[in-house]
Amino acid sequence: MATTVHTHEFVTFANPYMRCLRCYVPVPKWHDNSTCGCHDRWWNEPCRHTAGIHSACPSWSPVDGCQCTPNPHHQAT
Ligand SMILES: [Zn+2]
Ligand SMILES: [Zn+2]
Ligand SMILES: [Zn+2]
Repeated sequence: MATTVHTHEFVTFANPYMRCLRCYVPVPKWHDNSTCGCHDRWWNEPCRHTAGIHSACPSWSPVDGCQCTPNPHHQAT
């Protein structure tokens, strides 16, 4: 009856401009295997690369957000 599909635990970044250093897709969160308890490694979600990340916004702060003028990474919609 009960289908036990393991749901992975993810940690969401406060910075919305995080990108994967390998493929440069936006990475809003990452798989945290230490809290998840699964046997997989950590990865960048959704590309699943075990690669570093960096903020596409050089001026982002948790308080004020993006401070770039003009905003070079603002995406419509
Ligand atoms: Zn997991
Ligand atoms: Zn990637
Ligand atoms: Zn910015």
